Amino acid sequence: MPVSATLAANDAIARRRAQGLPVVPLGFGEAGLPVHPLLAKALSDAAGFAGYGPVAGIPALRDAAAGYWSRRGLPTEASQVVAAPGSKPLLWAILGARGGGVALPRPSWVSYAAQSAMHGLPVVRVRSVGGVPDPVELDAVAREGRLSTVVVTLPDNPTGRLAPPPVIRELCEVAERHDLLIVSDEIYRDLTEMELLSPASVVPHRVVVTSGLSKSLALGGWRLGVARFGDDALRDAVIDMASEVWSAPAQPVQHAAALAFSEPPALVERVAQSRNLHLRVGAAVAALFDTPPPDGAFYLYPHVPGFDTDRQVAEHLLASNGVVVLPGSEFGDDPAACRIRVATSLLYGDTDAQKLAALTSDTP
Ligand code: PLP
Repeated sequence: MPVSATLAANDAIARRRAQGLPVVPLGFGEAGLPVHPLLAKALSDAAGFAGYGPVAGIPALRDAAAGYWSRRGLPTEASQVVAAPGSKPLLWAILGARGGGVALPRPSWVSYAAQSAMHGLPVVRVRSVGGVPDPVELDAVAREGRLSTVVVTLPDNPTGRLAPPPVIRELCEVAERHDLLIVSDEIYRDLTEMELLSPASVVPHRVVVTSGLSKSLALGGWRLGVARFGDDALRDAVIDMASEVWSAPAQPVQHAAALAFSEPPALVERVAQSRNLHLRVGAAVAALFDTPPPDGAFYLYPHVPGFDTDRQVAEHLLASNGVVVLPGSEFGDDPAACRIRVATSLLYGDTDAQKLAALTSDTP
């Protein structure tokens, strides 16, 4: 697999740090919020759960995740839910278990294409409409007959946009027409104030929704993701793969995650604060770049005038100010725009733990 611009940027970051120069890490997709004390306690209380646990996740977590989705208009049974060490391995297993050609929005999150390549699956990129491959273009591609899966990101990484409900309905029609599985990556779902229509509420049998704790609660390092399957056979295939690859997620983390997905008021409040902060900061930074404010997640994706390529923009920002952003070509886009994360632990105060998080938040 090719060395990414991200890793190349890491070398430049390390050199700056070695020279004592400041680095403002706005590259990797991590909010850097401190761990909420309720969750820290739940994790330490569960430290004694040292066994492997069931492959698909402990019943308390599967129940709680089913409740989380049911409260968002997607009635869900615990048996539809599979937990894993992050939504990333779930996406990997889903793409592999399904097989066949994969349609991705252009641009889209780096790992969909890389994971498809690992499974030897052909990828077709289709212009993104808020994290959804443009349904008209998708329909034309699907007519050629090589597509099996379409991936959508709601709200989107890297653009920070959210596809409106009519686009989702059109996408679902195309998926029905060509018998496509829709993988709906909703890991940023709670970081928007706009209406989010999940494809799972339109064509439930052909949709897998993924989510997790990494973004809205900034717990990426705890490694906990969940998927909601509309189809039992695909779910069982993913559980079979999980049993041979990661066995089960860490049990103490699952106990804390069960609390998180049951959404006690203090955590609802925490997520709301994080959402408000990111949307406000996003709108302010967007104005500087003369680009519209984000619909959700914590990314801006502006075109920066005056440079030939997106890599030049990223290199310039790093060399002149120590600001780390990711070039759009990393996301399979035509080189032009750069992704700027508008969340950083630098926003949340100045405790030692947060300083540490700021220094380490540019690891993948
Ligand atoms: N999906 C998207 C769109 C992401 O941006 C990320 C993380 O950057 C993930 C999934 C992975 O999340 P997890 O930490 O649950 O593996």
